[in-house]
Amino acid sequence: MDLSSVHRRSIEDREGFWAEQAALIDWHKPFDKVLDFTNPPFTRWFVGGETNLCHNAIDRHLATLGDRPALIFVSTETGEERILTFAELHREVMRMAAIMQAQGVGKGDRVLIYMPMIPEAAIAMYACARIGAIHSVVFGGFASHSLATRIDDATPKLIVSADAGSRAGKVVPYKPLLDEAIALAAHKPARVLLVDRKLAPMDLVAGRDLDYATLRAAHFDAQVPVTWLESNEISYTLYTSGTTGKPKGVQRDVGGYAVALAASMKYIYCGNPGETYFSSSDIGWVVGHSYIVYGPLLAGMATIMYEGTPVRPDAGILWQLVERFKVTVMFSAPTAIRVLKKQDPAWLTRYDTSSLRALFLAGEPLDEPTAKWIAEGLGRPVIDNYWQTETGWPILTVAHGIEKTPTRFGSPGMAMYGYDVRLLHEQTGEEVGVNEKGVVAIVPPLPPGCMQTVWRDDRRFVDTYFTSIPGRQVYSTFDWGIRDADGYYFILGRTDDVINVAGHRLGTREIEESISSHPAVAECAVVGVADQLKGQVAIAFAVLKDAGSVAAADQRLALEGEIMRTVDRQLGAVARPGRVHFVTVLPKTRSGKVLRRSIQALCEGRDPGDLTTIEDPAALDQVRSAVTPG
Ligand code: AMP
Repeated sequence: MDLSSVHRRSIEDREGFWAEQAALIDWHKPFDKVLDFTNPPFTRWFVGGETNLCHNAIDRHLATLGDRPALIFVSTETGEERILTFAELHREVMRMAAIMQAQGVGKGDRVLIYMPMIPEAAIAMYACARIGAIHSVVFGGFASHSLATRIDDATPKLIVSADAGSRAGKVVPYKPLLDEAIALAAHKPARVLLVDRKLAPMDLVAGRDLDYATLRAAHFDAQVPVTWLESNEISYTLYTSGTTGKPKGVQRDVGGYAVALAASMKYIYCGNPGETYFSSSDIGWVVGHSYIVYGPLLAGMATIMYEGTPVRPDAGILWQLVERFKVTVMFSAPTAIRVLKKQDPAWLTRYDTSSLRALFLAGEPLDEPTAKWIAEGLGRPVIDNYWQTETGWPILTVAHGIEKTPTRFGSPGMAMYGYDVRLLHEQTGEEVGVNEKGVVAIVPPLPPGCMQTVWRDDRRFVDTYFTSIPGRQVYSTFDWGIRDADGYYFILGRTDDVINVAGHRLGTREIEESISSHPAVAECAVVGVADQLKGQVAIAFAVLKDAGSVAAADQRLALEGEIMRTVDRQLGAVARPGRVHFVTVLPKTRSGKVLRRSIQALCEGRDPGDLTTIEDPAALDQVRSAVTPG
């Protein structure tokens, strides 16, 4: 098999190709139709088929792998370790499912999960999948305002949370943020289920808050059968940032997602039943959904859930876990590797990592020096993946389960089967030539596993993703790319105002709204600026209501700190800008549009570009002098 002919077939004979892949999972009822694309760009896969993600991840393996590890939990924060076999995980999931059902949660109801990286978080996700409830996991690093927005959009019946997480040895309380978020939100969940790790004191709200341990004991012997779902019913929503202040609920189906993940485990990640998969991501991101919680188990692999950083207790911890659990497939992010790069390279060879078939890195651009450093230091193949929350699995990479295509530094690889990837001219919509820059676009129908729509907002799905390229209804990734003569793509950054900090996608608009909520701020602009460690970092420029209030340096410093704390409190530390500079005017076009790209260019020491439309050229001088050292 070669990748290009498999790819060609997946586009020319979509139904035949995906019908074959559908055999990788169990179906309770076979589908009537592989693909329904009668209402473009909405795509329905495996229409009429009935299946269940939890069944395919867990129940399906009970007979063959029941006593083999399924979920391996390691916390270097608290020192806890727990290994759950498939049989044990099955029982835990049924207990959790029974607790949810007892609270009236059923098919189609939303359950919002705001949890640290502990087994109960994954158990809650599987339990939702089991009973047909829709989970909506919110990253634990988000603070009350971000959480409140998501509570209002998802309108959950139940929230599952915990007293606290722990990061780099510091307890991070979750419950107070959750209480604050619920107070801020218009929607009030009927019940909140809390796992008490005994890390932080926690007050339970009478009549609303429930203690997980007590209910688990009450439902200890619960038997909860799987609820079979039509393939196109909703498995989950996951919020992602865009160009507006309001995050979008990326909505996924059941059958298409299960098939896409199972196929990717076979062709891209090459994982086998009984082996161990280790993704160092977080359940709050799409990687956590696809390749901590669902993908590995669908393939009969154990998955490692790791609470901790890559450098504690020492910079060998990731490789120590690889050795101990004989990890065959590992998934991490370039930022984690850049963090390790600052440490002694001897850590890379201290442990036996020969079990590793490959290390996959994704979520942000993988720069060549980092890729080389880790590939040489580890002596294992390093494979870049390019994809998005929206797609759920890789768009561009190499698929060694199909063909041993060599990787190229700086390139995530080629178009994956199922994705009809094109590079289009931003203005004309025409395809660009070899080595020419264009917008990375996908001609629909999108393959299985990709988002179905924006939760409760079909219009926004179409308007956001399918209208930006003139003349044709194609899906825009909002990334620039080029393709070389051999079909390798190179990603050149976003076409919109989304930034990527340490692999975390943030909308500059959300950060701007948070900064603007500070009473001293009149308006502001946030841009993403290249950063050696995090890939990008947010830098803010704020115009104050009273410019005189920061006449002195210590006043500036104090207000900058206050603004940063505002962002921390509302959005979480992930969104905190690296700097807040004070200016008296923002560079804008005559029609009032902030010239973010010019600001960004100046911050990165580049030429600010075409300034013919600028209202006040002096505004750029202020930006320039703010970011010029000395
Ligand atoms: P997210 O949805 O948070 O995973 O962010 C997706 C965005 O991250 C993409 O649209 C790209 O801008 C960026 N991205 C993800 N993976 C890669 C990669 N391998 N190389 C370059 N950029 C990437």
